[in-house]
Amino acid sequence: MVQVPLIKTDAEFEDLKKRLWTFMKEDIYPNEKTFNHQNHEIGLNGNEWTHSPILIELMTRAKQKGLWNMFLPIDSAEAAGNCADGMSHGLTNRQYAEICEILGTSVPMEFASEATNCTSPDTGNMEVLCRYGSEKQKKEWLVPLLEGKIRSAFAMTEPDVASSDATNIGISITRDTEAGEYIINGRKWWITGSLSLHCKIMILMGKTDPDGPKFAQQSQILVPMDTPGITLMRPMLAFGDDDSPKGHAELLFENVRVPFENALLGEGRGFEISQGRLGPGRIHHCMRLIGQAERSLAAMCSRAEQREGFGKKFVKFDTVLQDIAKIRVEIETCRLLVQQAADQMDKLGNKDGHTRQLLSLMKAHVPITVQNIVDKCIQVFGGMGVSQDTPLFQAFAGARILRIADGPDEVHWRTAARIELARQKASPLKDIGTYPKYGKDLLPFRRSGDPISPATQKKLDAFEALEVGNRSKL
Ligand SMILES: Cc1cc2nc3c(=O)[nH]c(=O)nc-3n(C[C@H](O)[C@H](O)[C@H](O)COP(=O)(O)OP(=O)(O)OC[C@H]3O[C@@H](n4cnc5c(N)ncnc54)[C@H](O)[C@@H]3O)c2cc1C
Repeated sequence: MVQVPLIKTDAEFEDLKKRLWTFMKEDIYPNEKTFNHQNHEIGLNGNEWTHSPILIELMTRAKQKGLWNMFLPIDSAEAAGNCADGMSHGLTNRQYAEICEILGTSVPMEFASEATNCTSPDTGNMEVLCRYGSEKQKKEWLVPLLEGKIRSAFAMTEPDVASSDATNIGISITRDTEAGEYIINGRKWWITGSLSLHCKIMILMGKTDPDGPKFAQQSQILVPMDTPGITLMRPMLAFGDDDSPKGHAELLFENVRVPFENALLGEGRGFEISQGRLGPGRIHHCMRLIGQAERSLAAMCSRAEQREGFGKKFVKFDTVLQDIAKIRVEIETCRLLVQQAADQMDKLGNKDGHTRQLLSLMKAHVPITVQNIVDKCIQVFGGMGVSQDTPLFQAFAGARILRIADGPDEVHWRTAARIELARQKASPLKDIGTYPKYGKDLLPFRRSGDPISPATQKKLDAFEALEVGNRSKL
């Protein structure tokens, strides 16, 4: 049974951060290469992917040190009732932004998050279960997830439809009323985590009412991974990497049956759940990305201080100096955006319009900004920057992938812009700054038949009299 201390004071929070930094320095950074190596071995090793030995060891150490489930905000923990008793530090989202940034300084980006039970898609799934699960669902799935005994997956994207528009999600979920069961048929792909044997449960979004109102057609249903009829077709490779042992599977569902009681919140409420999930579960990627940017900048500065060419240290070149300063301001602006969104979530909830806009802006802005930051850091390293001798290539790929995996940039910009247009309707500045073109006092500039003053006529006559080449002398 996991028990973590409640963080009640600023001093306790500072102490938590200090302990986490020590864990990062003593346990995470020194084991990054081992983690990568063992994951690669597992990826090459048949079809039985499991946690790597170093991950298991670090999960044990993190639990012992009380560095566990830090993601779980106070309101979600409360919503879970007894099931989450003693398993949350009770941090706000704003506080977790600082914690998650520290976790995000590991490479791969989610290594430290995996070791501390703060990884995707489990965090989002656990929050969904906290908020929308029945008591039975919480006991069966939430508790082992919070304890880190099992992992989970979230299955939305489908190969046959543009899944960035969630209304397209069409996997068939029909009812067998006599048996009291749903029957699922269709395909999903890019389902993160589902290739691991530790993954025991999936939250699947599909169509229960294809003819219903647009936003009430889909439901989210709990599907245990060992349900007959699920085939793991293949691992999807992101930039050639199988991302084992979590991985991203293409899945085939053939007459997969689960009881009616596995529906979350109720039929047709898939979108409602998604809206709740889009906040907490996914702000974490942006928090971690800031950690990636800090890690990359630190590497870039060290390299530029050491390396010499064209008669001086690289750090003396103006372009490098400018890049260092520009990266700092970019990190600070991203951090402020993320922290503001987290703060708004704490104060107004993630269904509030401005909070949702901030979340969309953050998801659109942070990944591309961090991708560009890491790109600049790679450049300073020359060939080494794209090699296995620095973690930069993983940070770059991670940021690039998130520009799609967490919903495409364009969709987040679109959401933010639509909220902006709605907000502008109530703006105190609405219609200020445009002046009426035609008022009743407005006199015309001049009419074609108006007489010209003698002084101006003189200038015009003088102009006419001059040869073309001499007109500039006027
Ligand atoms: C590494 C990785 C992990 C993932 N993990 C999961 C997971 O665990 N579970 C899951 O369900 N899915 C997962 N996904 C899938 C991911 O969520 C989808 O790929 C993403 O939502 C986009 O859907 P799509 O691939 O169908 O692209 P499409 O919807 O076909 O969109 C393709 C492109 O069209 C453009 N576009 C789309 N809409 C607009 C618009 N409104 N305006 C302008 N341009 C637009 C964008 O450029 C977009 O990239 C993962 C993906 C990756 C790469």
